[in-house]
Amino acid sequence: MELKNAKITITEAAKKLNLSSEKLYILLNTERELKVNFPVKLDNGTQKIFTGYRIQHNSLLGPYKGGIRYHPEINLNEVTALSIWMTIKTATIDIPFGGAKGGVICNPKELSEQELENLTRAFIRKISPIIGPQKDVPAPDVYTNSKIMDIIVDEYSKIENLPVEKVRAVVTGKSMESGGSLGRDTATARGGQFVLKKAIEQTKKIPTLENATIAIQGIGNAGQNFAKLISKDNTKIIAISDSKGAVYSPDGLNINEIIEHKKQTGSLANIPNTTVITNEQLLELDCDILVPAALANQITETNADKIKAKIILELANGPTTPEADKILEEKNKLILPDILTNAGGVTVSYYEWYQNINQEKWTAEEVDEKLKEKMQKATQEILDKKEQYQTSTRIAAYINAIERLSKKLS
Ligand code: NAD
Repeated sequence: MELKNAKITITEAAKKLNLSSEKLYILLNTERELKVNFPVKLDNGTQKIFTGYRIQHNSLLGPYKGGIRYHPEINLNEVTALSIWMTIKTATIDIPFGGAKGGVICNPKELSEQELENLTRAFIRKISPIIGPQKDVPAPDVYTNSKIMDIIVDEYSKIENLPVEKVRAVVTGKSMESGGSLGRDTATARGGQFVLKKAIEQTKKIPTLENATIAIQGIGNAGQNFAKLISKDNTKIIAISDSKGAVYSPDGLNINEIIEHKKQTGSLANIPNTTVITNEQLLELDCDILVPAALANQITETNADKIKAKIILELANGPTTPEADKILEEKNKLILPDILTNAGGVTVSYYEWYQNINQEKWTAEEVDEKLKEKMQKATQEILDKKEQYQTSTRIAAYINAIERLSKKLS
C-alpha cells in the first residue's frame, strides 16, 4: 500500500511539472535493491536464518541516506516506499543526501541483547559492500537505536580494517560517546514543532498555539518528544496513545506524569482524571491539531470525513492515504506532510555526518539554530509552491523536491 501511495503522489506532482516520462521513470524506480539471507547465532547455541534488505532509491543529490528498521512484518514493498520517501525528504529539506532504507524481518522483542547484536553484525557484514560514509549512510528507524548504530560502526571498522575514528560517518544516530550529535534524539519532534509554528504564522489556520488543543497518536520517540516540547508552548494535549489505546482528558493531560506512568506500568490505563479511548476515537477528536506519530495508513477514506482537527501534523511516515488526502483537502484542512514535518531527524543526521567528516563538535544551540533555519525555509518554500500551483501542501512539497532532483537530471 505504501509503495502504491508513494508512486501515486510522485506521479501527481510530476504531472503538474510536466516532467518527462524518462525523469518520472527514474523517480519511480530504485537504483539498487539488495536482499540478503544470513545465519545468526542464538543464545541456545542454534542458528537461525534471517532476511534483510537495503534499498537504494536515488543518489542524485549525494550519498544514499536512510534508516534500518527491525520488524516482523517488513517487506520489500514497504522498504522500497520508505526509500522513495527518503529521496523526496532529503530534497525537500535541501541536504546533500539521496534516499535509501533498510530492514531486517525479525521481532526484536523476542531476541536477547546478544542475539540482536549478532543479528546486527551479520546484517552489516552482508550489506557492507554497498554502505560507507561517501556511499550510503544508515540511521536508526523503528526498533533500532543508538546502541545498534554503535555496533554497526564497530563491525564496519573491523570489516574495513580501519580504526573506529575513521569510519564513524558510516551511520548517524550514534550515541554521543561514539560520535553522535547533540540534538539528534529530539530532532524529529523539534523539526515538527518548527514546521507547525511557521505554518500557523503564515496561514493563520488557528490564531495561536497558546491554548490550542492537540491529540497525538503514538508515545514513542517521535510522539513523546513532540508532546514534551509542545506542552512548553502552553498548548493543551487532550489525548495521547500507544498501541493498546489512548488516554484522554478534555482539560489537558500532564504529559510528564503520563510518560512516567507508562514507564512504570507499561500502560496508559488507570491514570487519575483521565478516560481511556481507542486510537480510532483519538483520530476523530474535536481538537485544533492532530499529530499522527505512530504508523502508516491511519487516516484513510473510511475515517477522513470524521477528522475534526484543523491541522494535521504528520510526524509518522505515510499516515494519510491519497484517497484521504482528497477528502481532507475538500474540507479545507491544513496537512503538514510527513516529508517536511518529520525531516528534522534526517537533517540533524546530516549535521552529525558533517561533524564526523570534518571532526567538529557543535553545541546544542548551534544544532537547534541550524535546524530551525532549515525547517522554516522548507515550510515557506512549500507554502509558496502551494500558492503558485494552487494545490495541496503535500503535492506542493513533492513539486519542490522533484524540481530540485530534476535539475540534476538535465
Ligand atoms: P517508536 O517505535 O519509538 O514508537 C512508535 C509508537 O507507536 C509507540 O508509542 C507505539 O506504542 C505506537 N503504536 C504502535 N502500534 C500502534 C497502533 N496500532 N496504534 C497506535 N499507536 C501505535 O517509533 P518512532 O521512532 O517514534 O516512529 C514513529 C513514526 O515516526 C514512524 O512512522 C517513523 O517512521 C516516523 N519517524 C520517526 C523518526 C524518528 O526520528 N524517530 C523520524 C522520521 C519519521
